[in-house]
Amino acid sequence: MPGQPCSIDLDFDRCHIWHPYTSVTNPLPVYAVARAYDVFLELDDGRKLIDGMSSWWAAIHGYNNPVLNEAMVSQMQRMSHVMFGGLTHEPAVALAKQLVALTPQPLQKVFFSDSGSVSVEVAIKMAIQYWAALGKTSKNRLLTVRSGYHGDTFAAMSVCDPLTGMHSLFKGSILEQYFAEAPRCRFDEPCTGNDLADIHVMLELRHMDIAAVIIEPVIQGAGGMRFYAPGYLVRLRELCDSFGVLLIFDEIATGFGRTGKMFALEHAGIAPDIMCVGKALTGGYMTLAATLVTESVAETICSGNPGVFMHGPTFMANPLACAVASASITLLKSYDWKASVLRLEAGLLKGLEPCRELKGVMDVRVLGAIGVVELHSPVDMAVVQKKLVDKGVWVRPFGRLVYLMPPFIMHDEELGILTAAVCEIVKTVC
Ligand SMILES: *Cc1c(COP(=O)(O)O)cnc(C)c1O
Repeated sequence: MPGQPCSIDLDFDRCHIWHPYTSVTNPLPVYAVARAYDVFLELDDGRKLIDGMSSWWAAIHGYNNPVLNEAMVSQMQRMSHVMFGGLTHEPAVALAKQLVALTPQPLQKVFFSDSGSVSVEVAIKMAIQYWAALGKTSKNRLLTVRSGYHGDTFAAMSVCDPLTGMHSLFKGSILEQYFAEAPRCRFDEPCTGNDLADIHVMLELRHMDIAAVIIEPVIQGAGGMRFYAPGYLVRLRELCDSFGVLLIFDEIATGFGRTGKMFALEHAGIAPDIMCVGKALTGGYMTLAATLVTESVAETICSGNPGVFMHGPTFMANPLACAVASASITLLKSYDWKASVLRLEAGLLKGLEPCRELKGVMDVRVLGAIGVVELHSPVDMAVVQKKLVDKGVWVRPFGRLVYLMPPFIMHDEELGILTAAVCEIVKTVC
């Protein structure tokens, strides 16, 4: 590595630490980050990278934000954590107030948890407990669409795309759920009943065993970075109502402005029965998620046996996480974030446009502060990652997708460098 010698023990890392989706016997190189500020990751060897990933959708305000830092420090001086069983605290109450106010009116009850996957587990348990309370214990399966991603724990994994989620590997240990075709109508296309023919048939045939439909509204994230028409969700809401099935929206990736709306469901103007948020909830500072649910679903759950909702994580509603989440939402609302996201959308469209002409490129799509270049064949991660770092940008492609979701505070100049680097790399690998 060029520059200063690395003070972080990369050999130890290589020998002992498991990174996401990696082999310990043949690990890909990892880059040591010494500090992060604004839209930059500063490597241990002194190199500075423009961050195009927002640390997996989370760091919407960039890094080392003074307002968010202050929120955490002042909370820490009061208390970092107390159990949530039998106790409550101001950060949790303040954050729940904000979430109830920001989300559709029917969502009134908030359940805090530690990560997105757990908030999905919670949503699934709520749906099953709801039907059990109504005496319909056979309604305990989930229906979803292909190409989805909902997390890595077992129930969450059971509703991820069966192929990319490697369901065959876990056969017998993973719940078997129902899968309909992924939405085909693109974001800017109309959506007709035809586009829901498959899911309609499944609901018709299997609604007796289905507790809920779970779906990522408008954008399918890690399952393929697919954008689909909001009209699909309007029709899906109608179908769920007519077949007596709950609707769960997973807004973990899309929430807090990423698509140009505070929540992606606003593109469709409808409300789910249960909704999960995470990732950008704390502006990327802490791990925290929440499951929001309607009054009527919550009341039904609590009217059945055993009269309570059966879940309670140790670090539920961690005060540090709640305090920084609250500050992050206040910060987001304190400026014209919509204008920033629209500006990024325009910059991504312009900057990624040259990729469209390239031979290996299948599609280029942009929505809000998300830009995707879809290739015909998968990229060689090890090679591409190094080239991108050498160009001074942090972008982490997966499979056939090279995608960007920059922090909302990124300037046009940095965005220009980011998109130019992506186009250049795509050109060399295609
Ligand atoms: C990331 C993600 C999850 C899982 O969240 P974790 O915090 O990684 O457990 C679930 N659903 C969607 C849509 C996500 O993008």
